[in-house]
Amino acid sequence: MQIITLGNELLRQRAEKIDKIDDEITNAAKQMLEIIKLEKGVGIAGPQIGLMKRIFVTHTEGDEERIFINPSILETSQETVKFEEGCLSVPGFYADVVRSESVKIQAWNEKGKPFTLEANGLLARVIQHEYDHLEGILFLDRISELKRKRLIEKYEKALLKGEKNSK
Ligand code: ZN
Repeated sequence: MQIITLGNELLRQRAEKIDKIDDEITNAAKQMLEIIKLEKGVGIAGPQIGLMKRIFVTHTEGDEERIFINPSILETSQETVKFEEGCLSVPGFYADVVRSESVKIQAWNEKGKPFTLEANGLLARVIQHEYDHLEGILFLDRISELKRKRLIEKYEKALLKGEKNSK
């Protein structure tokens, strides 16, 4: 399973609601948890592996592995925090992103059981980041235009360099 990176249009599309939690979905969830373990990530969303469905998984330090299917963010705190973020789909690039300090989310797990979760700190940040992926939004969209332009320029330069090196 390959991670889709910046430049691929799938990252910009809205993911579809999951009608049935079948083997395809539970297997995808397992593989997504494997990927974040291998890549030392803290979360990944369906569109990042080309699965255009409303699912993401998280595994932050000190927390269990979590699977969110058809999630809805019910509440976000007024209080915000700025923290450096990266993304498996924008490898090697990081930027400070302002997000709500805590969130309340409702979703279904892989067994089809609904749950509500209140999260703060890193988990709240990861949930917001991964939820954005389901809407076709990247963390780059949440930084200033100037910073975004610079980051994308650098990213494209690094890509070109990588292509040259592999030839
Ligand atoms: Zn991401």
